[in-house]
Amino acid sequence: MNKAIQAVRGMNDLLPDAVARWQHAEATARAVFDAYGYREIRLPVVERTELFARSIGEHTDIVEKEMYTFEDRNGDRLTLRPEGTAGCVRAGIESGLLHNQVQRLWYAGPMFRHERPQKGRYRQFHQIGAEVFGLHGPDIDAELILLNARLWRALGLTDLELEVNSLGAPAARAAYREKLVGYLRARVDELDEDSRRRLDSNPLRVLDSKNPAMQDVIAGAPNLLEHLDAPSRDHFEGLRALLDAAGVRYRVNPRLVRGLDYYTRTVYEWTTDRLGAQATVCAGGRYDGLVELLGGKTTPAIGFALGMERLVELLAQAPAEEADRTEVYVAAAAAEAAHDALRLAEGLRDRGVRVEWHCGGGSLKSQLKRADRSGARYAVLLGTGEAAVVKDLRGREGQVERARAELEDYLMTHLRAASGEERTG
Ligand code: ATP
Ligand code: MG
Repeated sequence: MNKAIQAVRGMNDLLPDAVARWQHAEATARAVFDAYGYREIRLPVVERTELFARSIGEHTDIVEKEMYTFEDRNGDRLTLRPEGTAGCVRAGIESGLLHNQVQRLWYAGPMFRHERPQKGRYRQFHQIGAEVFGLHGPDIDAELILLNARLWRALGLTDLELEVNSLGAPAARAAYREKLVGYLRARVDELDEDSRRRLDSNPLRVLDSKNPAMQDVIAGAPNLLEHLDAPSRDHFEGLRALLDAAGVRYRVNPRLVRGLDYYTRTVYEWTTDRLGAQATVCAGGRYDGLVELLGGKTTPAIGFALGMERLVELLAQAPAEEADRTEVYVAAAAAEAAHDALRLAEGLRDRGVRVEWHCGGGSLKSQLKRADRSGARYAVLLGTGEAAVVKDLRGREGQVERARAELEDYLMTHLRAASGEERTG
């Protein structure tokens, strides 16, 4: 036997049992986006490396060490997208979608980052995200958060916690940054290696460190919110008032910063304590400078991305919902009966029944075994004569004989009665 080839580390198969849960989450997200007037956009998985280097920033974990970058056969430098925002902005500029208009867009798909794989952290992972272009005010920030909250409710998730912060405008942030660097330099002995490296390249990210040994230094750092410019302060207060009015609970976390450089003003995260270290399920924020940075006209923008693996893991911890299973398993004991069996299966499907047709012949016993494994309520066995056997595999109806011509109506009547039974019982 040849040696079996394995999947790439950190890139997982989603087997059918898991896919049912993914589809439920995806369908729910789609319905919520519809309810808020967001339209789907589909973007390439591969972009020019330069797009991410310019938008995400050279001094970020993603660009420094996580991107899957390669040269294609023409010698072009290309990258598997590590996130969706840059591509969405690129497409918006390129196709004129952002020109003097408001756009509410959403996307879903795989992203790629060369990180250390662990629970909730993979090298191919999936995001659902939204980006809104052309709106300045805190009202749209609040709308995105409300949209998130509606999605959690629709999925039955009641324990996600919201943290919000404001990064201010670029000038005020630069001033804060200097103050922060001064503070960190004075305590440089207490910084870990990562934080020392970030001190020069991306000091705000030090606040984001998860290292327990760093928490003391971080707690004593100057407070970002006390250094906001006046318009950003108004914006943040406006957002908080809207969230209060809508009854959304949140915590202000002045140390919440984003890994990506292009954020301005509002940043937020939805977290859970049910996923261990990988606690952030959804992260969002405003990035008013990005469209211009990528060659478009100055355009305010805000978006979020949620991690599907983490979301689905939370759903998996709840009691499983009954999946949509096969209702009727149709088998034929004789080759001649297969034609009627096929017609019966198609007729039932025409009427909305989920039917599995037995393929591959075999003994009566083995056919019944497969019928049972399918999870179907009824097995129908067409033999050589006119009569067929209908066996109730789950309920108390036992086994009855019916003429072939009556099978479809018999099954329709009993399936309806059976589903009524489940509803009331
Ligand atoms: P983290 O701090 O967990 O590394 P991040 O700041 O790098 O997150 P974002 O770039 O904001 O994450 O991506 C948004 C969301 O995508 C995250 O909150 C998370 O749910 C999910 N996500 C990010 N990276 C991964 C990954 N490698 N595997 C699985 N999900 C991920
Ligand atoms: Mg990360």
